[in-house]
Amino acid sequence: MLMVSVVVPVYDEAEVLDQFHARLSATMNAIGVDWEVIYVNDGSRDRSLDIMRALHARDAHVAMLNLSRNFGKEIALTAGLDRAAGDAVVVIDADLQDPPELIPQLVEVWATGVDVVYAQRRGRSGESWLKRQTAFAFYRVMRRLTKIDIPPDTGDFRLMSRRAVDALLQLREHHRFMKGLFAWVGFSTRAVPYIREARAAGSSKWDYWKLWNFALEGITSFSVLPLKVATYLGLGIALLSGLYAVYLVISTLIHGNPVPGYPSLLVAILFMGSTQLIVLGIIGEYLGRSFNELKHRPLYFVESYVPPASSASAVSQVLHDLRAAG
Ligand code: UDP
Ligand code: MG
Repeated sequence: MLMVSVVVPVYDEAEVLDQFHARLSATMNAIGVDWEVIYVNDGSRDRSLDIMRALHARDAHVAMLNLSRNFGKEIALTAGLDRAAGDAVVVIDADLQDPPELIPQLVEVWATGVDVVYAQRRGRSGESWLKRQTAFAFYRVMRRLTKIDIPPDTGDFRLMSRRAVDALLQLREHHRFMKGLFAWVGFSTRAVPYIREARAAGSSKWDYWKLWNFALEGITSFSVLPLKVATYLGLGIALLSGLYAVYLVISTLIHGNPVPGYPSLLVAILFMGSTQLIVLGIIGEYLGRSFNELKHRPLYFVESYVPPASSASAVSQVLHDLRAAG
């Protein structure tokens, strides 16, 4: 029988985890495929791990992956994907912003032979005007700057076929801008629209500073265009200052030498200084990322892993049968 794995990164989600699992298991049991859910504890500081233990004890579909510390959602996701055994893998947030009830629809589309079925938000209820606007702007900028087509209004909530997951897992880079990596891998994709809800409980771990860094990650991971900005900025300023020099010579010839232009001098110096700093900063962003990748560190460390009881019993069942068969 076909199996669907569900990977859930969990960081301080004690308030919603039970509710999440109730909705997820009700949905998955109704589909009528074999399934497992891998809860990845990303160094939660609350009772999330205890709740995961209880879920594992109660439900044979539950696997528990406990990372050695908080590595961030992207890496937690990857760690879960590394363990997922399903023919298709669903990636979903624990906070119920991604409705588990959409999974049957994703599975249905996958069954028609589509490799990547992503859930596309129709609305963003419960999010501020500013967040909606910045998200909107981000997708547009990404589309312009990178050659790959990142579908707008799409989070990580999606279903991937086995071969898409295997392809994705070959990308072991540390700066894991998942939306970009998903798109970069390719394969046939289709969108399923849904309404994104507000968090059921707890609070988002995102603030605007994090979002800004996230956007920076996306752009620097998939585009070197900002590095070229330096060249064109330099060329443009050189051209303008050349014209200005010509104008100065001519105006001195015609009007003589008026009061020396101290303010314009200062403006020119400050302007050049700040452009150089900006350009250095851009180079620094890329250099820092190259540095991090070059160290080739493992992506994460595992504190403990408990496979789903169902698969453990399935394996022992097979072993038992083999022994019985002599
Ligand atoms: N998450 C995680 N590690 C982190 C931050 C978040 O595993 O360092 C998980 C979190 O538990 C949730 C998902 O990633 O399941 C999305 O997080 P959040 O709701 O804070 O992000 P948002 O929905 O605001 O983008
Ligand atoms: Mg959320």
